[in-house]
Order: sequence, then structure tokens, then C-alpha cells
Amino acid sequence: MFINHDYIGELLENNKTTSKDEIKTILQKAKNFQGLTHEEIAKLLYIEDGELLKELYSVAGSIKNKIYGKRVVMFAPLYISNYCVNNCRYCGYQRCNEFPRRRLDKEQIQEEVKLLEKMGHKRIALEVGEDPVNCPIDYVFEAIDTIYETENVNGNIRRINVNIAATTVENYKSLKDRNIGTYILFQETYHEDIYKEMHPKCLKGDYNYHLTAFDRAMEAGIDDVGGGVLFGLADYKFEILALMLHNDHLEKEYGVGFHTISVPRLKKAEGMSLDQFPNIVTDDEFKKIVAIIRLAVPFTGIILSTRESVDMRNEVIDYGVSQVSAGSCTGVGGYKESDAKKDVGQFITSDERTPLQVVKDLIKDGYIPSYCTACYRSGRTGDRFMQLAKSGNIENVCNPNALMTLMEFICDYGDEDLAITGKKTIYDEANKIEREDMKQLTLKNLEKIENGERDLFL
Ligand code: SAM
Repeated sequence: MFINHDYIGELLENNKTTSKDEIKTILQKAKNFQGLTHEEIAKLLYIEDGELLKELYSVAGSIKNKIYGKRVVMFAPLYISNYCVNNCRYCGYQRCNEFPRRRLDKEQIQEEVKLLEKMGHKRIALEVGEDPVNCPIDYVFEAIDTIYETENVNGNIRRINVNIAATTVENYKSLKDRNIGTYILFQETYHEDIYKEMHPKCLKGDYNYHLTAFDRAMEAGIDDVGGGVLFGLADYKFEILALMLHNDHLEKEYGVGFHTISVPRLKKAEGMSLDQFPNIVTDDEFKKIVAIIRLAVPFTGIILSTRESVDMRNEVIDYGVSQVSAGSCTGVGGYKESDAKKDVGQFITSDERTPLQVVKDLIKDGYIPSYCTACYRSGRTGDRFMQLAKSGNIENVCNPNALMTLMEFICDYGDEDLAITGKKTIYDEANKIEREDMKQLTLKNLEKIENGERDLFL
């Protein structure tokens, strides 16, 4: 298997002490987007010195700036079923938790979609618990069709990323046929013993089946896959190295690694308490995790959720996060129900700001919130996307698309205050576009959007 526990153990054992000079040399190398070797990652994981940490964050920030510019992509999760046959010790949906389970019918899904759209979302992550009887795969397929088809006041949801349990090649083919964006699956933990301990006597407990899910997805033709670790289950140093081995495996076998990596951190949930978990990740460790991933895989998106507080989100956006969720509910039907607080969410969230507030705050901090969904709609997926990203050419489309979708957001969901600050940012940035043809095209499209046209993208 491609996750070799002994190899990771040796890496961690043999790289505990590294001189300051050597760390600085590694950081300098990483600055040129060359990624990191396994040994180098292990060495960086042991940094404790304040000055070196600052340097690590600064290099992560400069990589992020160079590759992603000021863009931060926005999305929201949509939970449609909390039936679950699994026993995940950390999850509010674990089967021993007793609460009224539900799954949304077509009309209820449409209502949720309309509410998400009303907040300005164009990209969602579809989430369900695993239950072959109460939430069969055909239900998920139909839900995807419903979401894409739901007519909203200001246009439809344009990209559905899907986070469902590991499944078969055949089912992945059907997901692919439904034009999903990224197939997302968190490994939870790469540590086999801890994995088994965390998922006792349940479908999800098959470590190898879960670990090879992306192989089956790739075989089925899904070439954008999103990995992740639930930080807090096992030693984070082990997890980062394992995550990188997984990425290497995908690159070697299928020519492209993770499209995105998510960095969920364990939160309090129904039926568990955090003190049962000895590997909880501190805030300082979390920052280091984000920065090291940014150095190791410069072209892979990093996704941050509302599990993190406003302050933490603001800080790690600087160190490499490229996508954030906003206005999230982790309960089924949570966007609709005013009594959502009675619903059992999968875990608690820490950033309660509305998407409008998040957009305003990002702009105030010098970022460009982006609702762009153009890449996969234009066939820029898998290694095609990575080639463009690595050559730097992706910038020519990402930047204009971010500005155009932000303009849409301002026109359709903004208030007076955002109209002033947001439009100024947009036109300042558009005028900085280096290629004259792209600049003119962007300016023309921005004008069209202000005059009512929608969904313009490159
Ligand atoms: N059922 C799918 C599966 O098995 O992968 C989707 C999982 S769930 C809807 C999405 C993710 O939430 C999980 O993969 C897990 O990492 C995360 N999660 C579960 N409990 C959590 C908690 N207490 N704190 C933070 N994240 C949690």
C-alpha cells in the first residue's frame, strides 16, 4: 500500500533536529515553487523556533500571493441527509446518537438551494451521511440533478463538489456523468490503527477501501479529487507526511495529485467530547500545517471551513488558504429552518458571519472574493488545470473571472457600502491586468455585468 507507516516513522525519527541554516535553505528552495521532499517536510514539521516559524509563514504567504494573487474562492456546504450507518467516534451523525434523522425531498432541496443562492453562493459542497438504505446513491444522483436544475432569481448553482462516502467505480462514473466539480473525501486519519479505532464495526471501518477511493474515482474519469485529514485524530506530523505520500501516489498513477486539500480540525460534536482525543491540534500547530502544505504542494487549493474562528481564518488565508466556506449550516435543512438550532449539526461551527460580511471583510483586508466556477465548466480539470497552474497561465483567466463574479455578487447581493468599496477594488485590479487584450475584455465584461448580463467567464 502507498501509505508506508514504517517509512513515515523513520522520516519522523531521523529528522527531528535540523540546523537553522538548513531550514532556511529549505525555505528558500520552496519559495521557487519547487515543492518539498519528504525529508524536507519532516524537518519543517519540527520547527519550533519563533523566527523560523515567521519565515515559514512569510514564504507560504509569498507562494500564495504569486500563485493565487489576492483571490479567495467562496462556497457553502449543503447537508441533505443525516442518516448514517457509521460509527465514527468523532461525528455528530454517528449511528448511536439518537435524534430524529431526516433526508430532504426534492422540494426541500430546492428550498435550501434557493436560500443558498439568495446568499450569493454559486458553488456548493454536497454532504450526506452514509446509509445505503435511507440515503441510497440514486437519491444523491437525483439531488445533484435537482440542485443544478433549480431556477433561482439570480441564476443557478454552477458547481457542485460532492463529499460522499467511498464508493464503486460505477457510482463514480455516474457522478462524473452528472458534471460534478471535485469529488471530496477526507481520509480522516491515515494512521491505520487509529482509523480502525475511530470507525469501529461499520462500513467506513475498511481502511483500504476508504484509502483507495480516489483510485476508483480516477479510474471512473473524475480527475479533480479533494483530499483531507481530520486534524486531531492522530499525530499531525504523521498525517501531513501521509497526505503527501497519497498525493505522490495519485500523481504517479494518474498524472495529477489532489486538486484541493481540506484542513478540517476536530470540533465538539454530539456524542463526543474533545478530551477523549489525545492528538488535538493547537492553533500554532494548525498554522504550521497550513503553511507547510502550501510549500509542499504550491498548486493545490487549500480549503478552510467555518470550523475555524474569524481570527484564525483571517490569519491562515495569508499562509495559503485559497477557498473558504461562508454562512455555513452543518444541519440538514439548516438554511431553511428558523428552528435550525434544534437540529443536530454534524459539528459546531465558529464563524457565524454571513457571506456578505465575509466578502466585505475580505475586501477590507485586500482580498478578492471569487465566485468563479469557470475551470471545470471550460474543461480545465485534472492535469490540464495543473499544467495551466504550473505555467502561471491560469492567472490570465482566474483573475478576470474572480473580478467578474465579484461584480455579479455586488450587483445582486451587495449593499451600498459594498458597492462603493467593492467596485473600487474591482476596477483598480482590472486596470492592473498586464495583458492589454485581457484587460480590455475584462473591463468590457464588467460593464456588461453592471448592465445586467450574467455568467460571463473565460
Ligand atoms: N459520509 C461522508 C464520508 O464518510 O466521508 C461524508 C462525511 S461528512 C458529511 C464530512 C466530514 O466532516 C467528515 O469527513 C469529517 O472529516 C468531518 N467531521 C465529522 N465530525 C467532525 C467533527 N466533530 N469536527 C470536525 N469535523 C468533523
